[in-house]
Amino acid sequence: MDIVPHNIKQLRKYPNSEDIIPYGKHFIDEEDIQAVVNTLRSNNLTQGPLIEEFENAISQYVGSKYAVAVSSCTAGLHIACKSLDINSDSIVAVPTNSFVSTANCASFLGARIKFFDIDLDSLNISIDQVEEYLLCGNHLDLVIAVHFAGFPVELERLYFLSSKYGFKIIEDAAHALGSEQSNGRRIGSCDFSDLSVFSLHPVKSIAAGEGGVITTNDEEIYMSLLRLRSHGINKGSDELVNKEYAFTGDNKNLWYYEMRELGFHYRITDIQCALALSQLKKLNKFTARRNEIACYYRKKIESINFINPAQKESASFTSNHIFPVRIDFDALNIKRNDLMIYLRENLVYTQVHYIPIPIHPYYKKMGYEAKDFKNSMLYFKEALTLPLFYQLKNNQVDDVLEMLKTFFKKV
Ligand SMILES: *Cc1c(COP(=O)(O)O)cnc(C)c1O
Repeated sequence: MDIVPHNIKQLRKYPNSEDIIPYGKHFIDEEDIQAVVNTLRSNNLTQGPLIEEFENAISQYVGSKYAVAVSSCTAGLHIACKSLDINSDSIVAVPTNSFVSTANCASFLGARIKFFDIDLDSLNISIDQVEEYLLCGNHLDLVIAVHFAGFPVELERLYFLSSKYGFKIIEDAAHALGSEQSNGRRIGSCDFSDLSVFSLHPVKSIAAGEGGVITTNDEEIYMSLLRLRSHGINKGSDELVNKEYAFTGDNKNLWYYEMRELGFHYRITDIQCALALSQLKKLNKFTARRNEIACYYRKKIESINFINPAQKESASFTSNHIFPVRIDFDALNIKRNDLMIYLRENLVYTQVHYIPIPIHPYYKKMGYEAKDFKNSMLYFKEALTLPLFYQLKNNQVDDVLEMLKTFFKKV
C-alpha cells in the first residue's frame, strides 16, 4: 500500500509537465538537440574531441589556465580535494548552508569537517568566524567556499587569510557559472583559490544531463586531476616507472599504461559535452534574463511586507542560480509546508535551500549541534526558494506572488 500523507492526497500525481512552474529548470533548443544528435552519429560517444573542446571553452570563458570535465560536480569536488592531498589528518572548513556534496567530498577522504555558520547578508560562509577561529590558534588545511545562489564569496579576503594562515581554497561554484568576482573577472578564474568546481546538472546555469567541470591555474594539480578522473592511470608527460614493460628500445610501447595512484572513474562523455558546449553559447543570454527576473522579483516584493529577499543585492554580477526569500512563518502563524502544498496544488513547485548540512543524521551523529549555527538555523526556518529560470515570464512571477498573497489572506 502506498503511504501518502493525508494532505498530499489531493495533489494531481502526474500533472502536465508544461503546466508546472518549478523552482529551477533547464532550457533546450533545436541547436542543442542537433549537437547531441551529431555526436550520436559520430565515431565517439565518449573520450572523443568534444571533451577537450568543452574544457577549452570553459577555461576561456572563466579565464583559467586549465579545465577538467568530470561526471558530476560532486565527483569534481572529490578529486579536487584529493589533488590537494586532503586526507584523514586534514581539517576542512565547510559552510553549513549548502548541498551535502560540499562536505561529503572531504568526508570521502576521511577528513574532519569544521562547519562554519553563515553571514546573513550573503548566506555565504562567515569569513569573520573563519578569521576568529584562526586567530584563536586553530588550524585549517582547506576552506571550501560556496557562492550561494551565485552570490560571490569575498574571495580576496579569504585569499589574504589563506596566505597568512596557510590553508588551501576550493570554490564550490555549482551555483556560480556566470558570476563575477569583485575584480571583475569571472568565478572560476581561480585568481584567489586553488580550484573551482562547477555543476552541469540541468537545474544549474547550463546543462549536460549530469556533469561537472573543475578549473585551476596549477599545472601539477591539473595533471593530477586528469589521472584521478580515470583510475589514477598516467597521462601525457607523466614519467613511467616500469621501464622494462614501458619501452621497446627507445620507443614507448603503444599498449602500455601505468596506474600511479588510486583514482576513480569520473569521466564525462562526448554526448554530454556536445550538449554542454551548445549550452555554453547561450550562457550569457541565460544569465542576463535570470538577472532581469531577479530584479523584477525584488521590485515586486518591496511592497509585500511578509516576504523579503534572502540575500542583499550583490555588488558584482551574479548568475542568480536560485531566488531564495525569507518569510517569518512563526510570526505569521503559518506552516511552511502548508504554503508549499498550497502552491503545489497550483502547480508552483518551491523548495528549501538548504537544510544545514550538520543537522543531517549522518553528520549529526558525529556530534555537530544546531545551536552552534545560529544564523543558518534562523535562515533555514524562514527559507523558501521561489521559481527562477530562463523561460519564466514576468506575468508568471506576478501569478506566484499573487498566490502567496492569497494564501496569507486565507490563514
Ligand atoms: C548541485 C550542487 C552540487 C552537486 O552537483 P552535482 O553535479 O549534482 O554533483 C554541489 N554543491 C552545490 C552547492 C550544489 O548546488
